This record gives sequence, C-alpha cells and structure tokens, in this order.
Amino acid sequence: MENKFLWAYELDEIFQEFQTDPKKGLTDEKAQQLLLSNGLNELPKAKQSFLRVYLAPLFNWLIIIYLIAAVIMFVAGKISGESDMKMIYITLAIVGLNCLVAIFQQARATKKLNALRELSAPSTRVIRSGQKQEIFSKKICVGDLLVLSPGDRIPADARIIQSANLRVNEASLTGESEPVKKNNGKPLKNTPLHLQNQENILFYGTFITTGTGFAIVIKTGIDTEIGKISQGLESANSNEIPIRTKLNNIGKWFGIGVILAWLIVLIVLWLSTGELKIIESLNSAMDIMPINIPLLTTIVMLTGVLKMAEHGVIIRNLTSVDSLGRVSVICSDKTGTLTKSQMCVQHVWTRGSRFKVTGSGYNPEGEIFLVDNPTIPEKVTDIQKFPHLEMLLTAGALNNNASLIKHEFELDKNKKKRSQSDWKVIGNPTEGALKALYSKINDPQKLDKFEEVMEFPFSSQAKRMSKIYKDETGDHFIFTKGASEVLMYICDKMLAENNEAVDFIIEMKLIVMNTINEYARQGYRVLSLAYRPIDEIPSDTEEGRELAESDLVYIGFVAIMDPPRDDVKDAVERCHSAGVDVVMITGDSLNTAIAIGSQISIITDKRHSAMEGNQIDDEKNFENINDVRVFARVSPTHKQTIVERYQNEGRVVAMTGDGVNDALALNMADAGVAMGIQGTDVAKEAADMVISDDSFSSIVEGIHRGRGIFANIRSVVFFFICINLFEGIVQFILYVILGKPYFLTSAFTYQWVYLSLTMHMFPGLILTFDSVSKDVMEEAPRDSEEIISNKFLILMGIYGCLLAVSMLLTYFYGTILSPVRDSNNSFGNFNSFYLFTESTRYLSEGVDPTIAKTLTMLMTTLFLCECTLALQIRRPNKSLAKSIKDDGNPFMFIVVGILLVVYLAILYIPGLQVFLAKNGLNFQFMVLNIVDWSICIFFSFICIGTFELVKLISRKKGIKF
Ligand code: ADP
Ligand code: MG
Repeated sequence: MENKFLWAYELDEIFQEFQTDPKKGLTDEKAQQLLLSNGLNELPKAKQSFLRVYLAPLFNWLIIIYLIAAVIMFVAGKISGESDMKMIYITLAIVGLNCLVAIFQQARATKKLNALRELSAPSTRVIRSGQKQEIFSKKICVGDLLVLSPGDRIPADARIIQSANLRVNEASLTGESEPVKKNNGKPLKNTPLHLQNQENILFYGTFITTGTGFAIVIKTGIDTEIGKISQGLESANSNEIPIRTKLNNIGKWFGIGVILAWLIVLIVLWLSTGELKIIESLNSAMDIMPINIPLLTTIVMLTGVLKMAEHGVIIRNLTSVDSLGRVSVICSDKTGTLTKSQMCVQHVWTRGSRFKVTGSGYNPEGEIFLVDNPTIPEKVTDIQKFPHLEMLLTAGALNNNASLIKHEFELDKNKKKRSQSDWKVIGNPTEGALKALYSKINDPQKLDKFEEVMEFPFSSQAKRMSKIYKDETGDHFIFTKGASEVLMYICDKMLAENNEAVDFIIEMKLIVMNTINEYARQGYRVLSLAYRPIDEIPSDTEEGRELAESDLVYIGFVAIMDPPRDDVKDAVERCHSAGVDVVMITGDSLNTAIAIGSQISIITDKRHSAMEGNQIDDEKNFENINDVRVFARVSPTHKQTIVERYQNEGRVVAMTGDGVNDALALNMADAGVAMGIQGTDVAKEAADMVISDDSFSSIVEGIHRGRGIFANIRSVVFFFICINLFEGIVQFILYVILGKPYFLTSAFTYQWVYLSLTMHMFPGLILTFDSVSKDVMEEAPRDSEEIISNKFLILMGIYGCLLAVSMLLTYFYGTILSPVRDSNNSFGNFNSFYLFTESTRYLSEGVDPTIAKTLTMLMTTLFLCECTLALQIRRPNKSLAKSIKDDGNPFMFIVVGILLVVYLAILYIPGLQVFLAKNGLNFQFMVLNIVDWSICIFFSFICIGTFELVKLISRKKGIKF
C-alpha cells in the first residue's frame, strides 16, 4: 500500500488490503484480534493535574476563608503564647477532616460521573460476520464495514463503498459548515489531495447530514486525520455544576460577612474591655460558616442524577438539571414519544375503493376485505383480481428500507413452556407497516424480480421518499410515497381501470383529500403512494430529484394506526397539575395530530388550538402562543422558531428531537431531550439529556427528579445555614460578648466537638439522601433561577430566631432558675457511676455544676430542635405529620434513632462517661432527670411548634416555598 493514496485504490484492492469480506465484513474473531493488536479507537485524553483532580473541592470560597481563619487563629495562638493550644488543634483537626471528606467524596463522585458518561458512550452500526450490529465506537477497527445513515457521527476515517445522496458536515475538521457532497466510492486520481477534495473518504468526527450508504474503515484512533491534529481531548470534569457555582457565590459573601462581623465585634470588645479575644472570637466566627454546603450540594446533585439514570434519563450536561426542574413547557415529538410507534395499516384506499385490513403489529398475518359495501365485506383472496390494490402494495413494499424480523421467545410462567413470536421492525416503522401489509396477501419473493437502481431518501423536510427500480423486462419505474398534500402536488395522473392512468383532476383531488381527512380525524397516520415509468435514470442532485418526482400517477393511500403509549395520558395530566404545558410537535398532518392530541389530554379545552408549521413564521399567529397545543406538518427548522417564541415569552422550554436537523433546536432549548433509540448521534450530542426508552413519561420523570434535586438542595441549605448561623450567633453573644461559659469554654471542649461531629452532620444526611417528593409535581414551575428566594429567606430567618429563643430560654433557665447547689442530689446508689457525684467530683475539678447541667440541657434542646428540623424542612409545604405519613422513610428514623441512642448512652450508661473521662475524653455531661427533660422538651417545642404554625399559616395563605 505504499505507492498509492488510499483514495486512489479500486474498492477490490481495499477489501483485499484490509482482508474484509465486501458483504459480510470482518469476522468477530478477526475484529477482536485487531483490537488487541491496534488498540481501541480513541483519541488520547489530556492529563489533568493532580491539583485539579484532587484538590478541586477545596477551591470554594467558604473553605478558603475558613482555612485562612484557621491559620490566623493558629498564628495568633503561637504569638500570644496561649498556654492551652488544645482548642486550636482540635479546630484544625476538624477543618482537616472536613477537607479529607471533601476530597474523598469528590473523587467518588467523579468516578460515578464517568460511569454515567460511559452509559451514553457513542455507538456505531457495523456489519460483522454478516450481521448488522451496534457496537461501541471505540471498538471499531480497520476493515469494519460501517452502515451509514443521516445523523451518524463518523467513528473513524473510512472509504465509501456505496452511497445514496450522501452529504457530510465536515465543520469539525475543516471549519466549513456547508455540507459537502461525497461520491459513491469511485477511486480518485493518485495525487496528493486536500481533505476537502477526498470525495470518497469520510473522516472521524464529521457527521452525515443526509443520505445513506456503506463505508469501510481505513484508519482508527490517533492515525485518523482528526487524531493527527488533536492535542488530546479535555475530559470534562464535575466542577462546572452551575448550582454549585451559585452556592459558592452565596458561600463567598456569607464568609466575607462573617469575617467582617467578627472584626467589628472584636474591635468593639477591645475598645470596651481592653482585652483582645482573637482566638475565642475567631473560633466562634468559624462555627458560623456552613462549610459543608458546597460538598453536600454536589452529593445531592450526583445522587439525583444517578437515580435519574436508573430511570432511563441520562443527563449529559449537569447544567441542565436546574433548567429541567424549571421547565414550564414541553414540546414533544408525537411519533414514538407520545405514541408507541408500532404501526399497522388498517385501511387502504385505491381507485375509489376502500379496503379494511385485519391483524396487529408487524405480524404479516391478516386479511384484507373490500368494504365498498360495508354491510357485505368481500374478502380479498386472489390479489390478481385487484390489480390496483396489488399495485399499491407493491409500491409500498418496494419503496422501502425496513425489514421485519421474527423474534421468538419462550414464556415459562407456571413452568408451562410456551413458545411465542413477536415481529419487530428494523428501520422506519412506517415502512415496516407497509412491508407487513404486503406480506399479508403476497409472497415477498415476488419482489425479487425488481432490481433497485437508486434512492431519494426520506427527509422530514421533504416528507416524501422515492426509489427507482428496474423490472425483469428492463423497464424503469420510480415509486414515491409521502405526505398526501405533497403527493397531490406532484401527481397529475391517477390510477384507473386496468391500471391505466387518467388525469387527476382537481375535483378528484378534493374528493381524495376529503377521504384522507376523514381518516386523519380518527387519528390515523395517512401515507399516499404514487409511481411512474421513467425512461432515463435521473442524476443524484436536487434538480434530478425534482424532475424525477413529478408528473406521477397517484395510486392511493394507506391509513396507519399508531396508538398512543399507555402511560402517556397520565404523564400529560401530571404535567398539567405541575403547571407544565405539553405541546405536540409532529411532521404528521394537522387532523391526525389533533385527534391523537385529544386522546391523550393534550387538547382539553376549546381555547387550545393547533397550527401548521408554515404558519409559525407569521408573527400574528402568535398572539396566543400559550394556547397552541399542536404544531403539525413541522419541519426541523420550525422547531427552532418554536423554542425561540416560547423563550421570548419567558418560558423555560424542553424540546425533544431525534434527527440531524433537530440539533440546533435541541441546543437552543433550555432542556434539549434526545431519544435514545430513534435518536441520531448528532441529536444526542446536542441534547442535554437522553431518554433511553424514548418515552414521554420518562421526560416527565426527569422533570420530577430535576425539581426534587433542587428541593433537596434547598432543604440542605436551609438546614445548615440556619443551624450554623443562629447557633453561632447565640454562641457569639453568650460566649464572646457577654463572656459567659459555653461549649467553647475549655472544660467543655469535647461537648463542642460532640456537637460539631453529630448534630452538625447527621441530620443533614437525612436531607442529602432524601427521596424525591411527589409534591414537587403539584407546584407551579419556579420562575427564577435563585436557589434561595426571598420567601425562603424569611422562613429561614423565622426559624433561626425561634431556635435562638429556645436556646436562650434553656440557657437562662439552667443558669438562673435552676442552679445546682448540691452535687449529689439525684444519684443515689449510682454515686460513682456518673460525673458530678461525690466520688467522681475530682474528674470535674473547677467545673461549676450549674453550668454543666445548663450546657447538657442546651445540648438536649439542640438535639430535639435540630433532628426535628431535618424532618420539618424536608417538605416545607406540608405539616410534619403529613410529610411523615406520605413519604417518611426508614433512613431518616434510623439516623435520628442512632443519634438519640448515642446521646442517651453517653448520658445514662452507668460508668461510661467516668471511664471515658479517666481516659482523657471528658464530655462533662451531667445526668438529667425527668424534670430537666420536660423543661428541654417544652423549650424545644416553642421552636418546633411555632415553626409548624408558621408553615400552617403559609399554607392557609397559599404561600408556597
Ligand atoms: P413524525 O415523526 O412527527 O410522525 P415524520 O417526519 O416521521 O413525522 O413524518 C412526517 C410525514 O412524512 C408523515 O406524515 C408521512 O406522511 C411522511 N413520511 C413518514 N415516513 C415516511 C417514509 N418512510 N416515506 C415517505 N414518507 C414518510
Ligand atoms: Mg419523526
């Protein structure tokens, strides 16, 4: 192969060189061997620096500010010669622990994220061992036969073997955005050629805009043209989660605010008392910062996104999760998404006669009846007697790329083995229906006498398709099928008696269109068929196509049933209760679309209207865009206009798509949704998410979960900001400003550690791993991008104040109303098992028992309030009782239960605290009696009950959070 360029070889030589069978492709074994020896078909990935991969989670402002504060505290401690550095070390240890957890979690999240990307890895159709198969593009090797269809991303450099009307977009390689025409594999001259001129070569990374064909892979991976110029692909990382950026921003201002407040208080204190309490006050200030929020947000987001993947919603772009939750209008394709795409011809009309067809699905069993006299249907047994019907069936079966396969499977329910078969279509379902129709009464082998000459492929723009055939006598025919309006326009004759053609006069056209509409209004998908003998083979150009597809003879039409999916009506209704409008977009006719739309609750009101694609460009049709429910006869370019129109109205749009031409609309939409099964590579790449079962209800599930993720993040933010901020403020007032003993006082340091490691972490987990509530689908879509709305901020303020009140009441009750005078009042026989008894008093030397009891009570109040808060804020728009009844989960009770058991154990297990204290871990908790508990419960109830009351009043006033 040295002395020739790859484009200059004859195809035979290419097959020889790559040892590929021109029909069967490589064998599976040979492909495995090649993969082992040549490696995977991949471009090298750029290496990311260690710093970026592992330390990334620490690059958020809150943590940076926190770290700086920690360093200042440490330095201040050293300079002032602080004798007791324990506090500082512990604080630093907690910072360090937090960082480690962040790094660990981030690494795990990244791994999961990559696994998710793997799920949507590109795949390619090839022929191997004589079988068409779909394989991962990275497993392609040289010599593989590629099957090309519009929208495919070319997975390697390849030489064309055969092609029909093939146009390729090579912008990724040459920058040229106009599609270029490719030839059908003819060798070119043996001279160096620019990429643009290599007409029989397809390049890795470019994509097919129209046409079909076959090609053989000649170069893979790094050897390809794009491989030569690429410096390695940037692998995407998880830093770019927008909701996290927003939170980082909140965090930054929060951190700066705390530091400023701290400075002011520090200076005021210094001026009034002459003491510079850097360390205590800074430590207190640091307590206010909710440093785990950015981390937890990432976890909520990823857990949610992975859950979505389990439900068939694969998020390609994390940015879109937020918009997905805010979608207020879904524009959905009809065929395959709202309907089952299991098409079956039920009626045929030709030459003025109507036929009824029985049978179901793609199963080629069924009968045809002539029903011109509906009371006496006449069964068609001999097709020869109905030449016009035979003509129609033949035209449908020839002008066709679909194939039907029998899929056998065994049911063995109740151990009874039964064999069942099910027919599946490979290719276009509409064409599959025509194939099945033909086989109901004809032997498919009769078609073998026709030889295919060329094809003008179907496009949703042209809404028609043609094929040219040669019969055994050498005569050529063109067969065209497509949307009826389109065919009416290009037919000027009509099939009559003895398959002669008569003029298709305008009156007749009107009669036919009326009959078609009759079927369409019942929800049938109507397809017209035509043909014409031709003398010469047209050129493979637009002009050639136009010329060939003119003056046709109209044969008749078929009415195809494509029933709605079973779950789609419910899903549409769920959307309506969620304040989301559903709009159907289809290439099908207006009447069909309206009929289906009414069946599945898309059209429910007189107000709702339907329009055709070509009316979209007219501004004045858009005064009431919010009432339009159906767009019919839409071309892909219309989709962009539709997205734009809705966005101009300030709405957040989800748009579905599958074809190459949908890519732009998918890109423009706030949430672009590609179909996993029908969708082309290009559509999938342009989309924000891929729905693996193509079903509308999966989109709704995605919206549900998108909203859920947001709601969970918001609860997490609520919880941590509230408790950190308001606990911190109380601590600051009592400890720093008033100089009262508190958890930070050195004797109680371990209580502070206990608080940080339990209450400040675990109840938050309930929210982080919370299930998604059904309620989110009963609310109107959020209209702003803000995470914390003003209403929500006010709610946080109210709760914070309530918490502070409960805390202060407990504190003052303990210190003023219930001082402990005698150190052994309620211990009785357990004298030596607990702290603060006669025999254990030495473990708490210098500790005021009144303070010890007060702080233990305060801890109890905090425990009660905060565990309950986690449960209360899960569903801010429901009462606590109802939220537990409707969607309580065992996990939350387990977390609260464990916290309670641990706390009670430390307090009450005889000898435990004494043992720990003797070994250096002295919590200084005092045993509480039933009265103390009652007081704590009472004070907590002020916070808990009032908050429930505030929620109740909000509900009554119709305020939703
Ligand atoms: P949708 O996906 O919304 O149903 P399509 O783009 O598939 O719309 O089809 C639009 C119209 O094009 C159909 O109503 C039908 O008339 C015509 N059509 C669909 N499939 C074919 C085909 N394989 N060959 C010719 N015409 C077709
Ligand atoms: Mg379609």
